[in-house]
Amino acid sequence: MSTIKVQNFINGKFCDSEKYLDSFDPSTGEVWAKIPDSTVVNVEAAVSAAKNAFPGWSATPVQERSKVMMKIADLLESRLEEFAVLESRDQGKPVWLARTVDIPRAVYNFRFFATCALHDLNRSNQMQAVDAFNYTIKMPVGVAGLISPWNLPMYLLTFKLAPAIIAGNTVVAKPSEMTSVTAWKLAEIFNTAGLPPGVINFVFGYGPTAGEAIVRHPGVPIVSFTGGTVTAVKLRIAAAPFSKKLSLELGGKNPGVIFDNADMEKCIVTTIRSSFINQGEICLCTSRLYVQRGVYKTFVDKFVQEAKKLVVGDPKAEGVFMGALISKEHLAKVKGYVDIARQEGASILCGEEDLNLPAENKNGYFMRPTVITDVKDTSRLMTEEIFGPVVCIVPFDTTDEVIERANAVKYGLAATVWSTDVTTLHRVSQKLHAGTVWANCWLVRDLNMPFGGMKESGTGRESAKDSIEFFTEEKTICVKL
Ligand code: NAD
Repeated sequence: MSTIKVQNFINGKFCDSEKYLDSFDPSTGEVWAKIPDSTVVNVEAAVSAAKNAFPGWSATPVQERSKVMMKIADLLESRLEEFAVLESRDQGKPVWLARTVDIPRAVYNFRFFATCALHDLNRSNQMQAVDAFNYTIKMPVGVAGLISPWNLPMYLLTFKLAPAIIAGNTVVAKPSEMTSVTAWKLAEIFNTAGLPPGVINFVFGYGPTAGEAIVRHPGVPIVSFTGGTVTAVKLRIAAAPFSKKLSLELGGKNPGVIFDNADMEKCIVTTIRSSFINQGEICLCTSRLYVQRGVYKTFVDKFVQEAKKLVVGDPKAEGVFMGALISKEHLAKVKGYVDIARQEGASILCGEEDLNLPAENKNGYFMRPTVITDVKDTSRLMTEEIFGPVVCIVPFDTTDEVIERANAVKYGLAATVWSTDVTTLHRVSQKLHAGTVWANCWLVRDLNMPFGGMKESGTGRESAKDSIEFFTEEKTICVKL
């Protein structure tokens, strides 16, 4: 198959870049796309286009902006299969997962935000004592810089684009250099849907060059970033001299707490999913399992049995549960944690069996679901984000003990709790340091509810409405009567 050449999308037009970088198909290890290796020059052009488009788009009534976004959603939905195949090729996830989750949720993002903003009201208040009347108006901030990661390329990108543009901002976005193809294809839809040129611009390339040029650009007053905690520190430093508005959604080290009285059957099914879906490359994936001593052995045996059954292989093939990890380097990093387990004398219960891959996938970045026990809480396996199909299981005795141990990391993104006792569910959920706690479930997402990390997992917990507010300035006008 010939290599795809991705182009930047600036002012409604696809344009070439001076340099290109390689994008690999994780399932074969082959270069399948050339991505613009954009520089400050390309970012400058994109910011300039976004600035020029801002007066028109911000003055367009929200009802009209909403109509364009609904059209984008319809067009994306009509090309669901094409986008699912591209996303799988770009990121390594199974096609079925992109088809049933990632792309439908990207469509939903456009629809949800497009309609959510229609019901927003301004505030008002009469000050009787001084006979003055206050009211607020809401305005977009300006050109928004959006920087997204590779693990859920379409879902996370559209989760930023949709609130930014419904609020009337224009955008310069940089998807991950490892997964840029779907964003480039999405740009075709923008033109067909009638989105005015310059409202959304895509500049592809590396973080320290293209990404940082967006963050440092004085014409970009607001930046929304999803990615690693270490990258976020660099972003904060780069943005600091400009006092920019920043939203940071970062990494996690999510605990699952399983009590003796949990519904074991449901718990195992969901915890297998929460540990290994998308190759364990979801920021919300469970990576530390604390299991109460009474069911510890039963749980570990059953969990390992189920993990061994998961089919790893060609993301296009029927029945495959896990595809390939994003890159050679990331695979080496994740496997490095298994080496640490070995050095520390932990037990690796599964994950190192033969992969039995088809010839086409021999050079792909595959790894089997890996389960590790006999790990100390202080081990790097229990404190660092691995971001792959590796889960550690440890026993616990009391509720207070498990809360303390689960909270003893720098991250606070998500957690799960499993018990059939409703009081335990509430008590423990309330005490875990995590932006979202799922009790007897996982990844049940209501966009109306706040989402985001505590501690080093992020800066804000935003509902869809809050996200629109993030991209909005609210001004108070006080009129003396
Ligand atoms: P990353 O931090 O390496 O990169 C994220 C994005 O930032 C990419 O587009 C990258 O090119 C860009 N970037 C890198 N350096 C930059 C710089 N100096 N200036 C500006 N931009 C820069 O993260 P990743 O490896 O792509 O993604 C995985 C991470 O994302 C994990 O830590 C995961 O937990 C996190 N994540 C968090 C959430 C959430 O909602 N909290 C969701 C998904 C992923």
